[in-house]
Amino acid sequence: MDRVKRMNPHACEYHRRIEPCQWSRSHFSKWPKSDNITNNNVEVFNSCIKKMRKKSIITMPEEIRCYIMRILARNKKALVGYMGRITPVPQSRLEVEKRYSNHWRPFPMGDLAGNIFEIQCLSIKVSVDLGKKICSCRFWQLNGLPCRHACAALAYQNRRPEEYANNWLTVGAYNKRYEFLVQLVPSKEFWEKHGYTNILPPAYKRSGRRPTVKRNKMNDAPEPQPDPHRVK
Ligand SMILES: [Zn+2]
Repeated sequence: MDRVKRMNPHACEYHRRIEPCQWSRSHFSKWPKSDNITNNNVEVFNSCIKKMRKKSIITMPEEIRCYIMRILARNKKALVGYMGRITPVPQSRLEVEKRYSNHWRPFPMGDLAGNIFEIQCLSIKVSVDLGKKICSCRFWQLNGLPCRHACAALAYQNRRPEEYANNWLTVGAYNKRYEFLVQLVPSKEFWEKHGYTNILPPAYKRSGRRPTVKRNKMNDAPEPQPDPHRVK
């Protein structure tokens, strides 16, 4: 924050007004197993249903239902035949950590279980507890994947880092997520007939006068007044 303050004091002041857990990785919650806060999936979903949102009250949810059904079926098929404990995206991230782990040297602390290590690279030292699945760099706690320091400690014990990834990142958890099936809805012709009166839309009354097209300027925000001191 001192560095930010030197570069731009307003930016520093702005960030002080917002809770650090909303913008700083060092304060993010360890619970979601993700160090990235975005609403991208919501944006993608919104842009996909943009055309459907303009449709009538029956057609709109029906088209959204068909879209969700197609997406779930496609994602369910995506990992058929995939071999590995964790899904491809976390696996590729773990591969990067494994590659960088050879820059770090693990030193066991000598505890009874043999889980605690001090990991060093030149003058930098971090501590890893394989039993609690934590590292002082917080990568493991935030992402559920062993960081490069943990990978160095696991290599020292001849263990596979994949076995230490959080269960939420496994192929089993992925498949469980897509167990849910969107139920099929037959079209109107096949709906069950009942003996009650059909519900009809309310009667439409057309006003006698021509519909207004012009904007009602009374509702607009006041226009900015010209600055009398402005130099022409
Ligand atoms: Zn670490």
